[in-house]
Amino acid sequence: MSDQSIWFFGNGTADGDGAMKELLGGKGAGLAEMSRLGLPVPPGFTIPTTACTAFFEGENILPSDLLEAVSQGMARVGELTGKRFGDSDNPLLVSVRSGAPISMPGMMDTVLNLGLNDETVVGLGESSGDPRFAWDAYRRFMQMFGSVVLGVQYSRLARELDRVRGEREEADLTVEELQLVVERLKGVIDSAGKTFPEDVNEQLRLAIEAVFLSFNTARARFYRKSRGISDDTGTAVNVQAMVFGNTGETSATGVAFTRNPKSGEAALFGEWLPNAQGEDVVAGTHTPLPLYSAQTGADPSLATLEATLPEAFAHLEKLQKQLELHFRDMQDIEFTIERGQLYLLQTRTGKRTPGAAVQIVVDLVNEGIITVEEALGRIDAGMLEMVLRPVLDPDAPRKVLAKGLDASPGAASGRVVFHAEDAQEMVSRGEKVVLVRNETSPEDIQGMTAAEGILTARGGQTSHAAVVARSMGKPCVVGCNDIVVDYARQLFYAGDTVVRRGDFITLDGASGTVMEGQVPMLLPPTESGSMHQLLVWADERARLTVRANADNAHDASRARSLGATGIGLCRTEHMFFRPDALRAMRQMILAEDSRSRTRALAQVLPLQRDSFAEIFRAMDGLPVTIRLLDPPLHEFLPTREEDVEAVAADLGIRAGALRHRLEALEESNPMLGHRGCRIGITTPEIYATQVRAIMEAACLVASEGAEVLPEIMIPLVAIDKELSICREQAIATAEKVLEEQGQAIDFKVGTMIEVPRAALTAYKVAEHADFFSFGTNDLTQLTYGFSRDDMGKFLPGYLKARVLEDSPLSVFDQEGVGELVKIAAEAGKAKNANLKVGVCGEHGGDPKGVRFFHAQPVDYVSCSPFRVPVARLAAAQAALSVGDV
Ligand code: ADP
Ligand code: MG
Ligand code: MG
Repeated sequence: MSDQSIWFFGNGTADGDGAMKELLGGKGAGLAEMSRLGLPVPPGFTIPTTACTAFFEGENILPSDLLEAVSQGMARVGELTGKRFGDSDNPLLVSVRSGAPISMPGMMDTVLNLGLNDETVVGLGESSGDPRFAWDAYRRFMQMFGSVVLGVQYSRLARELDRVRGEREEADLTVEELQLVVERLKGVIDSAGKTFPEDVNEQLRLAIEAVFLSFNTARARFYRKSRGISDDTGTAVNVQAMVFGNTGETSATGVAFTRNPKSGEAALFGEWLPNAQGEDVVAGTHTPLPLYSAQTGADPSLATLEATLPEAFAHLEKLQKQLELHFRDMQDIEFTIERGQLYLLQTRTGKRTPGAAVQIVVDLVNEGIITVEEALGRIDAGMLEMVLRPVLDPDAPRKVLAKGLDASPGAASGRVVFHAEDAQEMVSRGEKVVLVRNETSPEDIQGMTAAEGILTARGGQTSHAAVVARSMGKPCVVGCNDIVVDYARQLFYAGDTVVRRGDFITLDGASGTVMEGQVPMLLPPTESGSMHQLLVWADERARLTVRANADNAHDASRARSLGATGIGLCRTEHMFFRPDALRAMRQMILAEDSRSRTRALAQVLPLQRDSFAEIFRAMDGLPVTIRLLDPPLHEFLPTREEDVEAVAADLGIRAGALRHRLEALEESNPMLGHRGCRIGITTPEIYATQVRAIMEAACLVASEGAEVLPEIMIPLVAIDKELSICREQAIATAEKVLEEQGQAIDFKVGTMIEVPRAALTAYKVAEHADFFSFGTNDLTQLTYGFSRDDMGKFLPGYLKARVLEDSPLSVFDQEGVGELVKIAAEAGKAKNANLKVGVCGEHGGDPKGVRFFHAQPVDYVSCSPFRVPVARLAAAQAALSVGDV
C-alpha cells in the first residue's frame, strides 16, 4: 500500500486519513481527514514521506514514475476545479507545501500560487475578472519561488516591492506597478545567475525538490535536535489547488485556535487579515485583526471577521467546534476566505503554553471528551515546572517603556540583544538575555532557545515569534509598535528612552509590558485550579511518592504547597556557615581536645535547634530526613592569606598555628577524603551535637502540638560497621534527649547510599538502617570514578566522540548506577522488610529517572521544591505507562 506514489484528497473523499501521519506527514493526514469529514478543503494530493527518503537515498532526483503520477494528480485536481495547469485561459494554480510527521511550524518551505508565468497571469486576470489580483499573485509567487526554490536571498526580492510601493499600502499598487515589480523580480533572479522557469511543470518539479531539500537545512535539523525529533522521517509534500484570500474585500485569510493557546480558556482565539494570503499572518510582517469582538484581549477599535464577513465567521465557528470534537484536542486551524466562501487549509494539534496545556486537558476531562488517564499522558511532565515560573512582584516599582501584545505569559529579565547569534554568544558567557527583533524567523530558533524572553516590534498572536515562544514556554511580547528597532546601531527607541545592546529590560508576557531594568519577581501561588486538579489525579494513580530537598523552612513550605509528602534531604552544612555558627565551628575544628571541642559545639547547638524547629513546624505531620554533616572540615576554614590573619586574630590564636592546622587538614582529593561518616567516627562530638539539636527541636515542636517525624541520615557510608557505630551513637544521644525532655517521639536512623560498596553490601548495611536514600549525585561520580569538578575537562570530548550521550550527572545512568540502585534496593528490602527506600539528588525530579525508579523497589523520590509537580506527574505517568518519556 505504501508504494502508492500520490495520495489524493478533496471533494469529500481521500485516499488516506488522519492516522497516517508517518506516511503523509501531519499536514497531509489532517487534510485527508478533513476531506473525509466533508469539510471544505481545496483538492490536492500528498507525495508521501517515503518518496522523500527515496529522494535522499537516490541522487536527489525525482523518479519518472513519480513525476508521471504527479501529472495525473494535477489533471484530476484540474477536473475538480474546472481549471487546467498551465492553461492560458483559466489556469490552475497550486500551493506546494511541506509537512513532516511531527509538525515543525515555519521550519520548512512552502510555495504559493505556483503555475503562473507571463502567459497564465493574463489568463488568470481575465478568468477572475481581476487583473490586479493576478499580478499580485504573480509577484508573490516570484518572491517565494525565487527565494525558496532558486535560493535567491529573500530580502533582495522583498526590496523590489518596497521600492515601488514607497510609503503606500500594498493594496494601493496598480496593475502597471505590479507588472513593474514582477519585471524587476525577474531581473533580481537573473542577476543572481538563476533562471525563472516559464514552464509550469518545471516549476512544480523544482518546488517539490525544494521542499524535500528543506527537510535537511541546518535550521530544520537544529529544530529537530532541540526537540529530540528523528532526522529519518523525511517530509511529505502537499500539492493543493489554490484558493485566494487576496481577491478583494470579501476575501481574507487567518488562523484560529479552538481554545486560547496562552491561557487554555475554552474560547475560540485567532486572527485574520482581509484581502491577503496566508503567509502574511504567519510571518508576522503585518499586524492582524481579532476574529470577534468578545475574543479575549481583542482591541475594540479593530475590525473583526465577525463584523466584516459574518457568514464566513459563523461557518468557521461551527467547523472549528466540529474539528475539536473530532480530534479531541485543541486545534490550530488555517483558513482562507475566497469571495465569502470559507476553506480550511490545515488543522493540527495546537501549540500552547505549559499553563494552557494543563488547563485544556483538565477542561477536556470535565467536558467528557477525554479520560483522566489521557489527560495525564498528554502533559509533558518536564514542562510543568514552567507553569509556576516567577511572576513580577506586584508591589515592585517599575518603569514601563512600551506595551505590545501578550503573546506568551511569564516574566523575564535580561540584557538586550538584537541578533540570535549574539544571544547564543552572551548566554554561553553566563549572561541572561532578551532577544529584541522586528520579527523573528526560523533562523532565529537557536537564539530564541537561549534567550529568557522575546520581544518583537511587529507581528500578532500567531506570528512565528509568538507560536515558537509559547511552545518553548518562554515569555514573549509581540506587535510592540511603541518601539523602533535600529539593528545597525544596536539599540531601540521606546518613546524618549534609548535602550542599547547590553542594557537590562524586563518583559511581562502576561500583560505585554516592556519595562526598564530588572524588576523583582516572586513565585506565583500554587493553587492554580487546573494544575492542582491534574496533580490530585496524578497522586491517585502514582505508586512513588514525592518528597523535596529543602534546607530551610521557607523552601520546606514551598515544597509542601507544591505537594511534597516530606523532606527527603535536609542538608545541614549551610547552618554552619552563618557567621556566629562559623566562628564556633572553627573553634571546634581547631580544638586540641574533646572538652574544648564540645564547648565550641555547645554554641552551635541552639542555632541548629532553631533551624530544625522551623523546618519541623513547616512539615507538621510529614517526615523530615536530616543529613548529618557531610563536607570535609577544611571547607569551614579560611583559604585566602588575608582571611587567615583575620580569623586567627578573631579566635585568639597565632596565625602560624592556624596555618599549621590548615596544612594538616589539606587533602589532595577532598571528594574522597575525610568527610561524611568518617568525621562522624573520628570526631563523634559533631554528630552528637547535631542529633541533640534535632531531637531537642523535635521535642520543642511536638510540645507545641505538631506531629514531628525526624529521620536522621548518615552520609557516605561504605562499610556496614560505619553505620552501626554512627547509629548506636545517634540512638544513645537521641534517647538521652527524650529522657531529659520526658517525651516519646518516633525517630528513624538510616543512611545515604552513595558509595558503590555500600550498594553492593546493602544486605549488611540494611541491618543497621531504617531507611536508605540513594544520593545519586555522589553515587554517579563514584561509580564512574570522576568528579563533577574535573569532568569539564573531558566531557565535551566524550560527547563529541559519543562515548557518552549526555552527562550522567544530568541524565540518570540506568545501566550502571541504576544497576547499583536495583541491587541495593532489592537486597535492602530482602533483609529488612520495613526498610524505606528513597532517592534524593536531582535525578529524582527528572521524568526519565522517575520512570526508572518506579520500576524498582523504591518508595519515594526527592527533588528540588520546584520540580515536585514534575515528579508527581512523572510518577503517575510511570504507573500508567503513558506520557512520552
Ligand atoms: P506552514 O507549514 O509553514 O504553516 P503551509 O503549507 O501551511 O506552511 O502554508 C502557509 C500558508 O499558506 C497557509 O497558512 C495558508 O494560509 C497558505 N496556503 C497554503 N496552501 C494554500 C492554498 N492551497 N490556498 C490558499 N492558501 C494556501
Ligand atoms: Mg500551515
Ligand atoms: Mg553525598
